[in-house]
Amino acid sequence: MTTARNQHIDDLIDLYTLGALEPSEQEIADEHLRGCAHCRALLNESERIVAALARTPEQIEPPADLRARVMARAQQARPAVSVPSPAQAATPPASKAWWRQLGGPPQGRTPLLVRRVIGVGALALLLALAGNTVRLQGQIRQTQKEAATQQQTSAALQSQMAQTQSEAATRQQTIVALRSQMEQTQKEAAAQQQTSAALQSQMEQTQKEAAAQRQIIDAVRAPGTRVVAFSGTGANVRSQLVVNAAGNQAFLLADGLPVLPPDKTYELWLLQGQKPVGSNLFHVDQHGSATLQVQVPTQLKDYQAAAISVEPAGGSTAPTTTPFLLTKF
Ligand SMILES: [Zn+2]
Repeated sequence: MTTARNQHIDDLIDLYTLGALEPSEQEIADEHLRGCAHCRALLNESERIVAALARTPEQIEPPADLRARVMARAQQARPAVSVPSPAQAATPPASKAWWRQLGGPPQGRTPLLVRRVIGVGALALLLALAGNTVRLQGQIRQTQKEAATQQQTSAALQSQMAQTQSEAATRQQTIVALRSQMEQTQKEAAAQQQTSAALQSQMEQTQKEAAAQRQIIDAVRAPGTRVVAFSGTGANVRSQLVVNAAGNQAFLLADGLPVLPPDKTYELWLLQGQKPVGSNLFHVDQHGSATLQVQVPTQLKDYQAAAISVEPAGGSTAPTTTPFLLTKF
């Protein structure tokens, strides 16, 4: 490209900045710049932009027409070479930017056209990279912000879960304790109920016995009551039968009888002629005494006598031992 000395060199400024001019252009540009404040100002601006691009991620607004001009230069020279790949461009040495190395001094051994294209292409690539870098940085900041928010949320949820688990454990402990307490209470209630039932049964028994005693006393006191004594071969003849005046009720007042082992029982028999009919099974207390109303299967007048024998527990249908006490009505 040739440029008259009296014309400005706007089109050369960017390539000048990148060190990509041909020697003849370089000469013209150097001479023109010495005498033209306008083009020196353009050069300053171009250098400022390139320097700022090299320091990206700072966001740069390149002049509106810079990219267009650079791309136009790149189009003119495209068939000659290719520009560096983005992979190469993405890993510049820390101290010296790759585009500076590529630009180099104009006297290098690299063919001139190649250097121009590399310089122009590098600037275009830098512009594109700067935009991408700014975009990517914005995305990274946004992503980091979101990650931080999610981490906060996660931490809050974890704390909440730990709290909930702790509360659940406490509740379970409480439930276990309450259940144990309830079981204990139920056990105690059952034991008390058993005791209560036993006492009730004992009381009813006592009341029954008291009523029977009263009946016997009433019967014995009633006028016309007969008392008939048992007689026997044994030591004891103190037992008696009390028969009321009407002759339809009898009571046994046993006394002085030996206490029997648990597998034995006394049995009272009523004699119908010679036939013994089982009446009462009874035991005596520790004094050898028993008081009971005689259970008569039919009517007392059907029987002529009574006898007592020792039988196996549960009684017998007929005496299995010889009656040792006997009385006639
Ligand atoms: Zn000028």
